[in-house]
Amino acid sequence: MSPAPPFRRHLPIGEPLPIVLDSPHSGEDYPADFDHLPSRAEVRRAEDTHVARLYRSAPRHGATLIEATFPRSYIDPNRSLADVDPDLLADAWGEPLAPSRKTAQGIGLVWRIARSGVPMYARKLASAEVRSRIERCWKPYHEALAAEIDARHRSFGAVWHIDCHSMPAVGDTHADDPGRARADFVLGDRDGTTCEPAFTRIVGETLRDLGYGVALNDPYKGVELVRKHGRPAENRHSLQVEVNRRLYMDEVTLLPNDGYAKLERDLEKLLSAVALFVRRSLV
Ligand SMILES: [Zn+2]
Repeated sequence: MSPAPPFRRHLPIGEPLPIVLDSPHSGEDYPADFDHLPSRAEVRRAEDTHVARLYRSAPRHGATLIEATFPRSYIDPNRSLADVDPDLLADAWGEPLAPSRKTAQGIGLVWRIARSGVPMYARKLASAEVRSRIERCWKPYHEALAAEIDARHRSFGAVWHIDCHSMPAVGDTHADDPGRARADFVLGDRDGTTCEPAFTRIVGETLRDLGYGVALNDPYKGVELVRKHGRPAENRHSLQVEVNRRLYMDEVTLLPNDGYAKLERDLEKLLSAVALFVRRSLV
């Protein structure tokens, strides 16, 4: 029997619309070979815990939702395959690498440190291990997401993708904004390059009307997934949405807090507004 796919796909209920959501960082299935050094509780603080569940109404609004089941600290689908830290490896990678600022911060394709800044491993990893993670997790996730986005684009001539994340309430020591309190939501369109401005605007305005503070591209501009799928000239629109974890969970225990139910309701209102926007755009 082949292993279970490293993602879950939730298809539209009723009339499909060209809206695809993905939650690359909410996976909680820790592989047996993930021999991290810090405690599981510490490593789990890298997750965008609950994010896929918070958007579970998406299929009722015509959207497809893809969620990763593997943890992003094992291998991060929101990083490019060249974003590898050579110092993490016991042997040569064998292909040119292009480590980004994320790798310098210890949070590239394979994380070198946990959220607290302590090393993730007591050893170096073999290149073959990292390649195996790519083959088992990163590639199937990317292929599944690309297939959904391409299929909707083929049917409708346009597609809107929301890359769903959550963020710590305050920047970590290794973030771009250490010690700074974050807005309720941060929208990332890589400075207006991954989607039409009207899409960023409708998402931002809807959230502000619901009473939330919304920042644009600060401190998160969007990374690999919106960069890969956002081609507004081809009517492929991709926006990263980061929600502040304090709105829905205790950041230490990861348990939902008193705000969880309200946030879930408000995200359903957001999806309803996005569905209306997309219907009007298709006319
Ligand atoms: Zn994330």
